Amino acid sequence: MSVTPETLKQRDIDSIIHPYTHLSKHLETGPLVFTRAEGPYIWDDKGNKYIEALAGLWCTALGYGNEELCQTAYDQMKELSYAPIFAGKTHEVGIELAEKLKSLMPFDGGKVFYGNSGSDANDTQIKLLWYYNNARGKPEKKKMIGRVKGYHGITMAAGSLTGILPSHTGFDLPLDGGRFLHTDTPHHYRYAEDGESEEDFATRLANNLEQLILKEGPETVAGFIAEPIMAAGGVIVPPRTYFQKIQSVLEKYDVMYVDDEVVCGFGRTGNPFGYDTFELQPDTVTMAKALTSAYQPLSAVVIKDDMFKTMVDAADEMGVFGHGYTYSGHPVACAVGLKTLEIYERDEIFDKAAALTPHFQQRLRSFADHPMVGEVRGAGLLGAIEFVANKETKALFDPPGTVGAHCVQQCHANGLVIRPLGDTMGFCPPLIVTPEQIDEIFDKFEKSLDATTQWAMAEGLLKT
Ligand code: PLP
Repeated sequence: MSVTPETLKQRDIDSIIHPYTHLSKHLETGPLVFTRAEGPYIWDDKGNKYIEALAGLWCTALGYGNEELCQTAYDQMKELSYAPIFAGKTHEVGIELAEKLKSLMPFDGGKVFYGNSGSDANDTQIKLLWYYNNARGKPEKKKMIGRVKGYHGITMAAGSLTGILPSHTGFDLPLDGGRFLHTDTPHHYRYAEDGESEEDFATRLANNLEQLILKEGPETVAGFIAEPIMAAGGVIVPPRTYFQKIQSVLEKYDVMYVDDEVVCGFGRTGNPFGYDTFELQPDTVTMAKALTSAYQPLSAVVIKDDMFKTMVDAADEMGVFGHGYTYSGHPVACAVGLKTLEIYERDEIFDKAAALTPHFQQRLRSFADHPMVGEVRGAGLLGAIEFVANKETKALFDPPGTVGAHCVQQCHANGLVIRPLGDTMGFCPPLIVTPEQIDEIFDKFEKSLDATTQWAMAEGLLKT
């Protein structure tokens, strides 16, 4: 069959169920087909060139076509293409990467569990907490608290902690049984009361969390999961003092803090990890995405030594630790992860990204006065622009998401790959972008925003 854009489009429609895609609309519109990529640029099947404003899905930190990572994967495939780590088997590259990851954690020691995605890693987090609480004789301590608009993946348990509606609708999630709860979104712009300071808003949210824990019974609550900055929920930067107040509630009731660093980890927020930016002391950490710069599917969970010791002490009673994936610790993924971390360190990628932050944030924030922009927010090389129907009242568009969707079409037409989070546009370029490429992203966005504003006005969507 000849490969033309039209045949590819039809073959896609005939054969693929697309994640996070409107199923019937996709049958009409068809896909955007990408064919090759290099650095922060990607090309479609019609030869159009785009610059990446979302690093794939918040993951291609080192950009596309990195020769060293390709060579590493090839070499590892030749040497040892696969070896399971089930039943006490191991390989050096898996050990080396685990040692490296432990050394990056904000606590001493630790043990690493490997998975293939952020979702399965967060499922692992939940299972480890349940296993641990069984092992320490607290079998009733099992409830997990996520946050409305938090994103932790889509598997049954991690998806239950996700607080974004489409992840639940039609899938009978959250799982029932009362183990999956949600607390407030820490978004001052949207949810603070009139005149409420960031600090007071943070206090109120911490009080609400405390009340939730007390209502459920602290002896039944095992863990709280949070991204340092909520990414898919709209790049929501927590209000000042939020995490300090939340963490003291968690400590008071022996509720473990699971830090989801799937997006914020590896230099994204202007520091090596989100826990550096917000001075967090997590009990366990989830990593994925930029761990391999998306050159291989790989995730990792790191838990503290004392948690592991409790599990070990109960091993005779519990029997085999029956959790793991065929590809846990896949040697090719581990080798690529290790090389990615080496490049981050050797090429001072996190420092360079931090140095780009003022320019990136200044260009981002230059949209704050635009009549259709309600809020601009972000940290490091992560940001968002939220559109509103009325700047004064912060009114949402009706129906929500239409303006975001239209803006993305304009961005695509102008050679910019970006993702709408409802009517909020998320920005998360590869960490290797140059200042000129940051300008290119925002110049293209500005042009797209102008066209979107004209359209929204013509459609009568702005309620001024
Ligand atoms: N956690 C966070 C913070 C995420 O943003 C994501 C994905 O975007 C996940 C977990 C789930 O990762 P995956 O899609 O690899 O399962």
